[in-house]
Amino acid sequence: MTKRSTRTLDPLDLFEIRQSLSEEERMVQAAVARLVDEKVLPIIQKCFEEHRFPRELIPDIAALGLLGSSLEGYGCAGLNAVSYGLICQEIERGDSGLRSFVSVQSSLCMYPIYTFGSEAQKQKYLPAMARGELIGCFGLTEPHGGSDPANMKTYARKRGSDWVINGSKMWITNGAIADVAVVWAMTEEGIRGFLVDKGTTGFAAPEIERKFSLRASVTSALFFDNVVVPEENVLPGVVGLKGPLSCLTQARYGIAWGSLGAAMACYEEAAAYACNRVMFGKPIAGFQLQQARLADMLTEIVKGQLLVLHLGRLKDAGTMTPQQVSLAKRNNVSMATDIAREARRLLGANGILAEYASMRHMANLESVYTYEGTHDIHTLILGQSITGLNAFG
Ligand SMILES: Cc1cc2nc3c(=O)[nH]c(=O)nc-3n(C[C@H](O)[C@H](O)[C@H](O)COP(=O)(O)OP(=O)(O)OC[C@H]3O[C@@H](n4cnc5c(N)ncnc54)[C@H](O)[C@@H]3O)c2cc1C
Repeated sequence: MTKRSTRTLDPLDLFEIRQSLSEEERMVQAAVARLVDEKVLPIIQKCFEEHRFPRELIPDIAALGLLGSSLEGYGCAGLNAVSYGLICQEIERGDSGLRSFVSVQSSLCMYPIYTFGSEAQKQKYLPAMARGELIGCFGLTEPHGGSDPANMKTYARKRGSDWVINGSKMWITNGAIADVAVVWAMTEEGIRGFLVDKGTTGFAAPEIERKFSLRASVTSALFFDNVVVPEENVLPGVVGLKGPLSCLTQARYGIAWGSLGAAMACYEEAAAYACNRVMFGKPIAGFQLQQARLADMLTEIVKGQLLVLHLGRLKDAGTMTPQQVSLAKRNNVSMATDIAREARRLLGANGILAEYASMRHMANLESVYTYEGTHDIHTLILGQSITGLNAFG
């Protein structure tokens, strides 16, 4: 009987997804993968340890057209949804914190300015944001709780031709480094979006220190103490919760892809380690228990890949629904969290060392599980669409 090699297949493309990508999609993926391999992976573990966002990578990220990549014009790349997904996947193979930066800049800041902003706002912000010269943040969550954003306390009152904002936001990615904050505040008419520039009197964005997760990402609180914003900084195109929720749908779509990248990184680390770690006289990859572990990981990754590829095609066809995005975000983040933990366990004691990536991904994914709608909230969104009954309140 011939002895078969277990490592001849391309495990991360077992179902030949690459073949169903267009030439442009393949090129985007390859370019981002190269950036991650050459520039991100060599520094990211240290950044995580030092609790430091690698700001020096922004010019490289911008030069590849990765900021606002799905938008047309204004210096943006105009790529399709599958390409945006592949960008998120490859970047999160490096680190969820860096992908969070790209998601927030692209889906939560540039997208609402592009979709709901005035022409003057688009001209002022979008080209500079695409070049990475202006950084954005998105302020929706408040200290009393993020899962029920309709219960918003931050309030904007009209005063002549200006608006006066009071209140606070919490857990805001990019906050302390942002040049502009897209802030959602309650008004007499309902929720409105405001563009608050850095340095505006009464506006502060202190960084939240001592996180155990997303340590290579900046997370901040935002404080508004009688912050005066002119009418021209209000997003004219939307009133109500559908404004921020439509941004979240874009970002959650990218997260469903991104979390897959973290899962792939952990799987690859675990598979390589299993082939090299010798125990009881042979590599642990040769034991059935570890093979089952790797087979389970790979199965979930392939299912996740097929899910987001199909979702991306639906998004490009203009038929994607928020419920589909909830299912994909919920499934893939949960799957990636489990894979990161299993990979860490396969590595034994070495798995807790900073030399290996799985525990960093595992810690990061705890934030990803919670933000952009917690796992529970996506369960309730699906529950409502299955049963027609609202189980939120
Ligand atoms: C690192 C990081 C970065 C973030 N970046 C941003 C950002 O850039 N901008 C932004 O606006 N926000 C951001 N967030 C905030 C994030 O979106 C919120 O943390 C999230 O919405 C959950 O809100 P919460 O943490 O206040 O939890 P809560 O809403 O207080 O929920 C607590 C628990 O209760 C559960 N729960 C809530 N409601 C129900 C219910 N009806 N039934 C059953 N269980 C329920 C939740 O699932 C959770 O387990 C970020 C968070 C983190 C951790």
